[in-house]
Amino acid sequence: MMRTNRWLLILVLCLLALPDARAQSYPDLQELTGYSIKAYYSPGNAERAKIIVGRCEKTIDYVKGLVGFTPKVSVFILNPEHWKKYASFPVYGMPHYPDKERLFVAAEDNAFWKSFIPPLDQLSPDMAAKVKTAYRTPDGNLSMMAFFDLLALHELGHAFHQQGGLTMQRLWMQELFCNIMLHTYIAEKEPANLPALETFPEMVVAGGSVGYEFTTLAGFEKKYDQMDPKNYGWFQCRLHVAGKQIYNAGGPTTFIKLWKGLKQHKEKMTDEAFASFLEEQVSKEVAKVQTAW
Ligand SMILES: [Zn+2]
Repeated sequence: MMRTNRWLLILVLCLLALPDARAQSYPDLQELTGYSIKAYYSPGNAERAKIIVGRCEKTIDYVKGLVGFTPKVSVFILNPEHWKKYASFPVYGMPHYPDKERLFVAAEDNAFWKSFIPPLDQLSPDMAAKVKTAYRTPDGNLSMMAFFDLLALHELGHAFHQQGGLTMQRLWMQELFCNIMLHTYIAEKEPANLPALETFPEMVVAGGSVGYEFTTLAGFEKKYDQMDPKNYGWFQCRLHVAGKQIYNAGGPTTFIKLWKGLKQHKEKMTDEAFASFLEEQVSKEVAKVQTAW
C-alpha cells in the first residue's frame, strides 16, 4: 500500500510538471539553428531572425573578447500575436529582457516605432535631413526600427552585468553601462550604423528638458519604474549621448575598466565614494555623468 501511494505521488508530480515542460518548447514558434544562441521566431520571419540573432552573437563574441565572460540568453523574434502570448512588456516593439535569460524583440515594423518620428517640419533642417537618412525603412517609410533593433543589444548588456556578477551601485549606472557597451560595439564593429544609434537620442536631448517631471539622477533612482515612459526615454537618451562621449574619449578600454571596477567593488558606495572611484579607476568622462549631469 505504502509503495502504491509513493508511485501515485510520483505520477501526480510528473503530470504537474508536464505543462511547464511543454510551455518551454514553444510549439507555435520555429527554432533557429546554426547559431551559438538559442533563438525562436514567429513563422515567416526566418531572415529577420538570422539578422537579429547574428548581430546578438557578434556582440556577445566581441564583448566576451573584452571582459572574458559570456552570458546565456535565448532570443525571441515575435509577431504581434506571439508577442501577446510570450512577451512581458505590453507594447509591441519595445525590446526587453524580463528574466535572467530571455530577450524579446519585435519581428515587424510597428506603430510604436513609427510614433517616434516627429513631423519633420518641426525639426531643424539639419536634424530633419539626419532623421531621413538614419530611419528610412526598405519600403520607403520612416520608422525608428533601426534604432530599436540596436536597443536589443542594450538589453544584452543587462545579461552581461547580471550574470557576470557585477554590482552596479546605481540604476542609472546599470543603464549607462548597457549604453556604453552598445556604443562601443557599434563604433568598433558596425560603424555604418552609428547614425541610427546616435540620431534619435541627439534629437530628444536637443529638444531640452522642459516638460519632464524628473530630470535629476536622484529622481531617476527614486522613480525608475514609476515615471511616465516619455520621461524614462529622455533619461535613456541622455545616457546614450553620454555613452557616445565616453566611447569617443577612451575607446573600448573604458568599458573594460568599468567592468573590472564594478565586478571588484561589491560594497555599496556613497555618492562621493562612487564619483572618486569612477574618476580614479574608470574614466573622467564616466565620472562626469554623475558630477556634471
Ligand atoms: Zn536597460
